[in-house]
Parts: sequence; C-alpha cells; structure tokens
Amino acid sequence: MTKFYWLQDPKEWQCTGDLSRVRHKWGGLPGLHCPECGATWAGSMTGYPSADLSSLPERKELEVPRPEPFDEFVRLRERVRPFVPSGAQLLPGAEFGPLVGTASGTFSSLFFYFVQTPVIQREALERLQAEGIRGLRGFPTELRFRQKKHPELLELELLPQGRLHVDCLPPDRPPPCEKCGRKGIKRPDDLILDAGSLPRELDLFRLADFESTFICTERFVDAVRRLELDGVDFREVPVR
Ligand SMILES: [Zn+2]
Repeated sequence: MTKFYWLQDPKEWQCTGDLSRVRHKWGGLPGLHCPECGATWAGSMTGYPSADLSSLPERKELEVPRPEPFDEFVRLRERVRPFVPSGAQLLPGAEFGPLVGTASGTFSSLFFYFVQTPVIQREALERLQAEGIRGLRGFPTELRFRQKKHPELLELELLPQGRLHVDCLPPDRPPPCEKCGRKGIKRPDDLILDAGSLPRELDLFRLADFESTFICTERFVDAVRRLELDGVDFREVPVR
C-alpha cells in the first residue's frame, strides 16, 4: 500500500519569495450567496493556469471578486467548465489563467508557501518528471521580477482530489448544505485519508475537502529527497 504525505512548510524557512501581489490573469469565479444555508462564501484555493479564457464572452465578469446569488454563480461556473480539466472541482473563488504581477525575493525549488499559487523551478519540474513522477503539469507564468536574476518559475496545476476519512472529522458536524455543498467545518489538525477516494495516477494533488492541503505519494517524497530539492517538508498521513 502506497504511503501518503502532507506537504508542510519547512521549519527553517530561508526563502524570501513573495507572491502576495500576483494573481491569475483571467480572474476567478465569484463567491456565492446561498439561499438555502444563508452563507456567503468563496472557499476555493485552486488556480487553473491551463485555462485560456480569452474566447469566453463572460470573461469580464470574472475580473472583480464579489458574491453573487447562487444561480448566477452556477451560470458562470458552467460557462467556465469547458476550459478546465474534466471533472475539476470548481468552487466559488477558483481562478484561471497564468500568473501575472510582480514577484520578488528568493525561491526554493518547490515553493508552496502561497497555497493559491504553488510554483516550481523549471529545472526541478523536469528532474521530477524524468524520475517518473506522475501528473505534474507546470505552466509558464507571466511574472515580472523586482530583481534581474531570478529563477524560471512554473505554476503547478494541482487538481483537488481525494477526501478525508470521516474518522478524523468531528462527530457532531452538521451535514453539508444540500444546495451549495458548503461544509462549514475547519480542517482537523490530524488528518486521515479515505483510501477509496485517493487518485491512482497522481503523485501530488490538493485535497478536494480542503484545497489548501497538498498531499503526495511516497514516490514523490523519495524523488524530492533523492534529487535534494528544497522547499517542502513531509508529514505522513494515515489512510483508512
Ligand atoms: Zn448553502
């Protein structure tokens, strides 16, 4: 049985990389206001850098983050769906297109500190792919850098996949909203993965339940250690 690991920021952080002023070129889905549960929310952490929305007539409607009524959110989501990988989870706030804006500082080989914009240096990506790591798709960024000397950063498109096992969730949690799917619970400190929900062809992905959580396989950990790539630590997560 494959082991799975939760990616952690390194304890001794030596990078000064700053991506706080970058965004995805085409903007993102609005938040939604749900008539059923009454919540207004936008929980997605996922960027789809592969999505080219230049031909989408509604693309202007994605530029400004705002909450929309549920039906309007669904309308926009379905207009975007043909541009993202099939089966992609499109939560309110999901973003599209290459990264644009200004970056600064130094970057580790893998740089996941900003969870909406996981980036990797081109050389590191090519070496991981050469090791046979599955499902890594890196996309060119359109970043400007404050400094002249900087690495070539690619953004990884990491799809939300896999779920937590109910044994690690609070027993008294309310059921998810039937209309909008909002769960309204916080990520537990100790995770257990639901074996049947885990992807079989990917060595690195986000959790569908909590998109800010990056999970990888033992193969990925072994390759990162063998290649001595910096920027991430790993914590094993039980699978049930
Ligand atoms: Zn709802």
